[in-house]
Amino acid sequence: MKRVVIVGGGYAGVTLARALDEAFDVVLVEQKDRFYHNVGAMRAYADASFFERLLIPYDRLLRRGRVVQDEAVSAESGGVRGVAGSYEADVVVVASGSRHRMPFKSSFTAAVEFRREAGRLSAELAEAESVAVDGDGPVAVELAGEIRWRYPRKAVTIVARGERLLAGAGNPWLGERAAGMLREMGVSVVFGGGETGAALRIAGYGAAFSVPCLGAEGRVKVDGQFRVAGREGVFAIGDAADCGEPPLTFLARKQAFHLAGQLLGKTAGYRAAGRVAMAVPLGPERGVLQLPLPGLPVVGSWATARLKGRGLFVAENWKRMGFTAPPS
Ligand SMILES: Cc1cc2nc3c(=O)[nH]c(=O)nc-3n(C[C@H](O)[C@H](O)[C@H](O)COP(=O)(O)OP(=O)(O)OC[C@H]3O[C@@H](n4cnc5c(N)ncnc54)[C@H](O)[C@@H]3O)c2cc1C
Repeated sequence: MKRVVIVGGGYAGVTLARALDEAFDVVLVEQKDRFYHNVGAMRAYADASFFERLLIPYDRLLRRGRVVQDEAVSAESGGVRGVAGSYEADVVVVASGSRHRMPFKSSFTAAVEFRREAGRLSAELAEAESVAVDGDGPVAVELAGEIRWRYPRKAVTIVARGERLLAGAGNPWLGERAAGMLREMGVSVVFGGGETGAALRIAGYGAAFSVPCLGAEGRVKVDGQFRVAGREGVFAIGDAADCGEPPLTFLARKQAFHLAGQLLGKTAGYRAAGRVAMAVPLGPERGVLQLPLPGLPVVGSWATARLKGRGLFVAENWKRMGFTAPPS
């Protein structure tokens, strides 16, 4: 049986590991002791009890293969070297993702330490009379919405450096509608940066991309079969890889399924998505959604709440990790 070693048990890595578990000898090397479903981070920031629903154990992910807690330091043809051990492989897949500030992604390997720091940040937010969130991307916009929903009496401001929210989405109307909705909710929307005098200022930006185990600054360039140049049998997917798609969970998972099919001899070349969906909830019942259809139409709260806002894909991710449901 062929041996595959996967570096990183985020959305891409767990999807691939599960898809190959029957046919390959799978080893998933992950530095953390729990999967962090960081899509729910903004709601949990505003309500710390929600963090527990985002930390999923790895012990039910695989039937045959194993998950090893270790930090990979190099990924070469033939295997992966970690801090605690070495893992020989016929196929190496790097899915080591990206980083962000706490608690948008976890900076800790132990969930117990993550809970402590995330809880401290949430408590700081709970105590502040007024909050300013810096940033104009989905993390900042969602966080401003979640804070306002959880604390209707708190003064909340979003401070965008530029002149638009969600400027990275294909349709500018998405950001305009989000700004309008935030204002209706009582959030002050400020463009062009500046001081607000808020008691607490939160940086809602700062994603960082690099792949140290491949010696790459930024995302590692891959070809249409996710191959890393110059390293036979080494592939990269998800946020770690530049295959022409933006860094998003559902694309990381799509790439993982495609690579699984490729390694099983069922699929050939990958075509990067042209139009991309973007759902930005502002609390469980409101928000904006850009659909991946011609013209990138934007719809409002009804669809956003049902697609994402109410559940934030929590139940789906517990199921993908081998559980029947999240803990109640
Ligand atoms: C707050 C926030 C909200 C988001 N919301 C959405 C959303 O709603 N929808 C959406 O599509 N996208 C969203 N994204 C983007 C999404 O989080 C990423 O696209 C996604 O995490 C990529 O998955 P991945 O598996 O490639 O990497 P990651 O999820 O980053 O996982 C990488 C894993 O590799 C591990 N790792 C890293 N280096 C090593 C190493 N050397 N050795 C061992 N293990 C290692 C890490 O611990 C981590 O578990 C959001 C991002 C943020 C920050």
